[in-house]
Amino acid sequence: MGTPYSAVLTLMVTAGVINIIMGIYVVSNRSKQAMAKTFIALCFLSAVYIFGSALELSAGTLAEVKFWIAVEYFGMPFLPPVSLMLIMHFLGMDRFLKKRMRLLMYLMPLITLVLVITNDLHHFYYRSIELHTSAAIHKVELNAGPWYIIQGGYTFGCMIGGVALLLLYWNRMRSSYRLQHITMLIGLLLPIIGDFLYLGNMTPAGMDPIPVIMAVTAALYMWGLVSKGMLNVAPVARDTLFESMSDAVLVLDRNNRLVDFNPAAAAVLPELTSFTLGQPIEPLLKLHTDLSMLDFNAEADEDEPRIYDEIKWTVGEQSYYYQIRSSFIRKKNGPETSKLIVMIDVTERVRLQEQLRVMAYHDGLTGIFNRIHFIQLSEALLHQSAMQDEPLALMLFDIDHFKQINDAFGHDVGDRALLHVVEACRQLLRPEDVFGRYGGEEFVVAMPGITREEAEAAAHRIRSEIAAQSMVAAASERPLSVTASFGVAMAGAGCKKEGGGINKLLKAADNALYEAKNSGRNTVRLADMETTKQALLP
Ligand code: GH3
Ligand code: MG
Ligand code: MG
Repeated sequence: MGTPYSAVLTLMVTAGVINIIMGIYVVSNRSKQAMAKTFIALCFLSAVYIFGSALELSAGTLAEVKFWIAVEYFGMPFLPPVSLMLIMHFLGMDRFLKKRMRLLMYLMPLITLVLVITNDLHHFYYRSIELHTSAAIHKVELNAGPWYIIQGGYTFGCMIGGVALLLLYWNRMRSSYRLQHITMLIGLLLPIIGDFLYLGNMTPAGMDPIPVIMAVTAALYMWGLVSKGMLNVAPVARDTLFESMSDAVLVLDRNNRLVDFNPAAAAVLPELTSFTLGQPIEPLLKLHTDLSMLDFNAEADEDEPRIYDEIKWTVGEQSYYYQIRSSFIRKKNGPETSKLIVMIDVTERVRLQEQLRVMAYHDGLTGIFNRIHFIQLSEALLHQSAMQDEPLALMLFDIDHFKQINDAFGHDVGDRALLHVVEACRQLLRPEDVFGRYGGEEFVVAMPGITREEAEAAAHRIRSEIAAQSMVAAASERPLSVTASFGVAMAGAGCKKEGGGINKLLKAADNALYEAKNSGRNTVRLADMETTKQALLP
């Protein structure tokens, strides 16, 4: 035999081997999906056909040729309907593939097989089979009978039907499946083109190009299968729900490789394309969130979905919050094969909660703590100071003649005066000091860890800062000076066992403030130690 034949034979054997490997690969994955089963059938039928063709090519006698042709027909006539079924599964048309329909599709190839085996009796499939042997090549001449034409028509019908369906569903197909879609289309178009060339006698030495083409498509499918998880593709057309869901959905396989995603997921993970299918998901998630917060390696026997709430998610400059649910997809009677990750946008809820929290704890005008929250915080501070045997100073101050400011300039200017005072005070406070609005124009500061003298000095600094910083009331008016009066009370070191809490300390500070007002305002008064101590007694 000449070299062209050896080359062709090598290719054919390669194609056959790839098909068998693919078949075994899919079988060993034990996928229960109808599409996987169809694919397995396609692989083994192709292998039968390819090896039959290879052996026909190397046969030496007419009897051998006839034998291997018969073997080929155990595979070949079944390939077109099985390809069509594979495409129908891929497009989610499973409902058209009821058992009766499948049997009907197999009927034609079955008749063909019987006719080929018994051809010598009726010559209905091949009118004649002749073997011409010359020095370099041998050639089998097949003369088509009536049924050959019918089987040919059926083959083309199935293949062209498959192409038509793929084209028809082109727009309905999710963009994430484009690559698989194209792979299938090429896998069908190549044999059709090959057949036309063969029938038009345009192939070298009238050789059947299909086995060679099958080597190419087998390699294509192998690539699709291994690197793109081609068979993991869920049927497409039926899941408009999946498509239109506003929650992002990712489908992962056992090894956390991406099998599928919906358009909402592509918005959450802009890196997702059809090229990302088959890739591990973790590196992608890592781009947007802290992976240590999530654990997708949970055991498959968990029934409840795992819920990770308020997971911070960043896309570029923007940040969002997601509730991420991870659960297993259970097949009716098989092991779990996939994991479903649903991402629900809770950004709005988290922002609202944060707003509510701010509103609940802070004063709306000045932004400092409100009275209730101040009391909570300073109560804790007092307790902590007592435990550590540290002093705590409480400073209460009230703006002088504030009513006059309101009366003279209006409420708005009064509000601005409040902000002005808060700002002047804030500049002089330490981070550990707790500052709150106690009432209308009364403010309160809890200062941990400072002595009576230091507290007095701090009060004086704030008092003079407020007095020194004048504020412009209105364009026409001259700058306005605001002053305040201060009362300071101490919870001294060594008061550990004395109860009474923050309220008694506030009362002591209030008394001192009252004294300050009575002493002419814009001044600081300290609650005397006795008063303070008494205030701290239960
Ligand atoms: P004193 O020096 O004795 O403290 O005189 P005063 O006028 O500051 O005393 P008083 O407590 O009688 O007046 C407080 C006023 O503060 C009464 C109220 O109308 C005003 N006020 C309370 N809250 C606000 C506010 O949020 N904005 C404005 N503009 N005024 C407020
Ligand atoms: Mg006042
Ligand atoms: Mg007042």
